[in-house]
Amino acid sequence: MSGPDDKKPIDFIRTIIEQDIERNLNGGRVVTRFPPEPNGMLHIGHAKSICLNFGIAAQYSNARCHLRFDDTNPEKEEMAYIHSIQEDVRWLGFDWGSHLYFASDYFERLYELAEVLIHKGMAYVCSLCAEDMRTYRGTLTQPGQESPYRNRSVAENLAMFRAMRAGEYPDGSHTLRAKISMASPNINMRDPTLYRIRRAHHHQTKDAWCIYPTYDYTHCISDALEGITHSLCTLEFEDHRPLYDWILDQLKEEIGCHPQQIEFSRLELEFTVMSKRILTTLVQQRHVSGWDDPRLPTIAGLRRRGYTPASIRNFCSLIGITKAPNHVEMALLENCLREDLEINAPRAMAVLDPLRVVLENLPEDHLEELIVANHSQSEAFGTRMVPLTREIFIERDDFAENPPKGYKRLVLGGEVRLRHAYVIRCERVTRNPQTQAIETLHCQVDWATMNKAPEGRKVKGVIHWVSAQRHGKAHVHLYDRLFSVPQPTDNKGGGTFLDHINPGSLTVLEDRPVEESLARAQLGEHFQFERLGYFCLDSRDSKPGHLVFNRSVSLRDSWAKGEKKA
Ligand code: ATP
Ligand code: MG
Repeated sequence: MSGPDDKKPIDFIRTIIEQDIERNLNGGRVVTRFPPEPNGMLHIGHAKSICLNFGIAAQYSNARCHLRFDDTNPEKEEMAYIHSIQEDVRWLGFDWGSHLYFASDYFERLYELAEVLIHKGMAYVCSLCAEDMRTYRGTLTQPGQESPYRNRSVAENLAMFRAMRAGEYPDGSHTLRAKISMASPNINMRDPTLYRIRRAHHHQTKDAWCIYPTYDYTHCISDALEGITHSLCTLEFEDHRPLYDWILDQLKEEIGCHPQQIEFSRLELEFTVMSKRILTTLVQQRHVSGWDDPRLPTIAGLRRRGYTPASIRNFCSLIGITKAPNHVEMALLENCLREDLEINAPRAMAVLDPLRVVLENLPEDHLEELIVANHSQSEAFGTRMVPLTREIFIERDDFAENPPKGYKRLVLGGEVRLRHAYVIRCERVTRNPQTQAIETLHCQVDWATMNKAPEGRKVKGVIHWVSAQRHGKAHVHLYDRLFSVPQPTDNKGGGTFLDHINPGSLTVLEDRPVEESLARAQLGEHFQFERLGYFCLDSRDSKPGHLVFNRSVSLRDSWAKGEKKA
């Protein structure tokens, strides 16, 4: 058996999985899991892991993927994150069916298994304080030192561990540790902590526990209890794999399942940050408006910005799964969105920097209802009515008094086509008497040019426009990179990521003229504003009668050419 359409597996993990299916390992079953800690919202890096784990489950016939919250740090976790993570995974297009779990579901079982380890002489209660524990641990170059409590008897360990659970000791006074080797070159194997005393309220188990298992102890056992076959995680856990295996080896008879841990590289995206600790700082210190700020790489931020699930899934499939460093340019993510919206977003017109144009050969009350296609490539998008009136707005930079060489748009005495309408000629300009800035262009419409090239001359430029007499208004948010350097957390020269925040990452344009038809725009709809980019309504700030559009992405990658703005 192999993957769909008998194609070659697309990455080294699927290669392993297909070999395992072939030799009927685990009875041919494949069970993966996505195991977030509910201590923050998901980001695009998590999407990589979600697409991998749920993607594998969807790809093979005898496969499934669990969603499991690794909730061993109650002080940092919140119900709100539990809800948002489920929403985000679903929004990305994945489904865990009935397989929603919490590591805290296993607290009782984890406790029993810890007693088993004590009985086997594989775990002991240690009474070193945190500081001594650190000193005894040693360093990368120096072996650790054995704890003076390492040789407590099984009976004493058991009695003390039970007393820990019963709340007889203060927080932090004792720990339960695995008895492995303080001389191991791998620090993770130097008698790692399995349990600590912490009187913390837990969102699931409430106040039932005053001792909590550590991540390393909990994760492998949770995987095994759920019958996970392939435990896929990021490379920083490679050094933890010996511990993952050690714990499950000690508990072979009790659990009888030993998932295979396989590591792949984390996604790092340029000009942004991915660690939840740093994202939390940005949110809490109000450098951004919240976890769903459209400049953040969180799933909620990307969704609010206008990213589609398909564009993110496509991105994850393009970056692939390897063990090599995975530093990816933002442009790749943006391109995935463009590709999706190019095909799927209807077109509309808006003017962000309006310059008034009077079409002088139109009567004052001229109203021409143009029926225009919503998508030039696909009739399925239908048509809409765009009113043409005597006064219109065009973009200020679509007119040039001193045009640079090769300028194809409007100049004094020159012609340009209004998108979906006529060719116009600019006859004269009027200026603000004080500032001398151009206030109005006075133009003539060539009536013979609707859907037709003008006779005897070429007009190359086509510009977008909006009626000045019949339009809606919208606030428009334009976004730039949140950081001004590709790797904001790389602070070899001192400072922190906060020093690299781009002060110009958000531009708010108020009351800009947009086509009337956009008043009917719905949350979740995407539009191409012709020549300006792809936009969607802001899910937080936009209200009926008060439109706020976010620019999801510009039409071209302006960064590739070294320009700052599209
Ligand atoms: P952070 O470092 O941002 O706090 P984390 O790894 O602690 O992230 P978890 O909630 O533990 O966050 O992550 C759940 C799963 O998502 C883990 O299996 C983790 O390996 C994976 N993951 C997290 N960040 C990335 C990333 N940047 N690229 C790929 N996978 C990731
Ligand atoms: Mg983690």
